[in-house]
Amino acid sequence: VKKTGWIDFHTHSLLSDGLLLPSELISRARTAGYSCIGLTDHVDASNLDSVVRAIIRVCQSQDGVGGLRVLPGVELTYVPPKQIKALAMRARELGAVLVLVHGETTAEPVPPGTNAAALAAEIDILAHPGLITSSLAKIAARNGIALEITTRGGHNLSNGHVARIGQAAGARLVLDTDTHTPENLLTPHRVYSTLQGAGLTPPQVRRVLANNEWLKRRLLKRLRSA
Ligand SMILES: [Zn+2]
Ligand SMILES: [Zn+2]
Repeated sequence: VKKTGWIDFHTHSLLSDGLLLPSELISRARTAGYSCIGLTDHVDASNLDSVVRAIIRVCQSQDGVGGLRVLPGVELTYVPPKQIKALAMRARELGAVLVLVHGETTAEPVPPGTNAAALAAEIDILAHPGLITSSLAKIAARNGIALEITTRGGHNLSNGHVARIGQAAGARLVLDTDTHTPENLLTPHRVYSTLQGAGLTPPQVRRVLANNEWLKRRLLKRLRSA
């Protein structure tokens, strides 16, 4: 059982609706034994440019400190489905190495069609995809987009569904926290209770954690070539 070295691709700071300054969030992740954290504040057309620029500035000043890798990203949130592809491209152009879309969680009225549009865009993770269909999960597998298992209350209600449909489709599952407040960060208990609670067997749990490692390597490569 892993006790440290956590990788978490989904967090919020007060650049959107999180409680902490990016620097405090990063510092607390370091203390919590993380090896990699993605900063992925909520963005739409109104704030994408300014948020990406701000996140990149703080990531450049913090990346590598104490061994913690810090990845600049965004979570496209409530973007009309037709605009997701263009905004994902814009985020990449501005230097976001990690692009998430706020998927069709059962906990909120996210616009229908968001999951499908996200999976046709150049993104890395479809966050909390709710009752995703198996045909969309197959598109995720084909397009190399990870489906998220989340520790976040509300969004986590459909983890079991996402795990079952995603694995059957051959899609990569990753574990994230969607942290908004300091107590949301990963702990060993939260990692294993979330993954096992989603119905995953011990080998399947190890595969999800290996997927987080795989995606971390892929994103760091993208960061180096940016
Ligand atoms: Zn979200
Ligand atoms: Zn989020």
